Amino acid sequence: DLASSQQNHSLNIEKFDLVACCEQVSSHVKKLQSQSIVVHSEDGEIWMVADLTKIKQLLLILIDNALKYSSRSIEIHITKDSTNVVIKVKDFGIGIAEEEIQHVFERFYRVDTSRDRKTGGTGLGLPIAQSIVTEHDGTIHIESKEGVGTEVIVFLPIEQEKNLTK
Ligand code: ATP
Repeated sequence: DLASSQQNHSLNIEKFDLVACCEQVSSHVKKLQSQSIVVHSEDGEIWMVADLTKIKQLLLILIDNALKYSSRSIEIHITKDSTNVVIKVKDFGIGIAEEEIQHVFERFYRVDTSRDRKTGGTGLGLPIAQSIVTEHDGTIHIESKEGVGTEVIVFLPIEQEKNLTK
């Protein structure tokens, strides 16, 4: 439809290696000394066709959250099937209560326990992450358990067929 094709026009599509992209974002993000970011991928390179700048922003939001709401190392798992790449960002931090999970994609929503944190955010990270995923015709969901940790799972089409600019 018109709305989604217009949205797609704002994508700047190119081919890139998602594993390298993930490692690049990981090396630039702020973390505690006790934390490292372990990237697991089924292949050394996983090529996809998407908006590189937006995928970097998506990864940054998810990695930043995983580090912010945990003091331990985090894991990123990248796989693919015949049509999608699958990105899982997993932490072993404070987790999100079951009744809060449905709200965290709302703009400016922050779980009670995060509101008074020094590392305060604005509550815009996940809504932006979701809009980037939606623009790419992908899906995002969260599995979390309070006190145990959180896993954000993103499916993205390997290839955006429209508007290949490079
Ligand atoms: P920012 O806009 O800087 O990302 P934020 O982290 O508060 O700020 P969102 O990324 O939108 O905003 O996340 C919304 C809320 O969801 C957070 O305030 C936090 O309560 C919860 N949350 C998000 N990711 C995690 C996570 N990995 N572990 C625990 N809670 C999380």
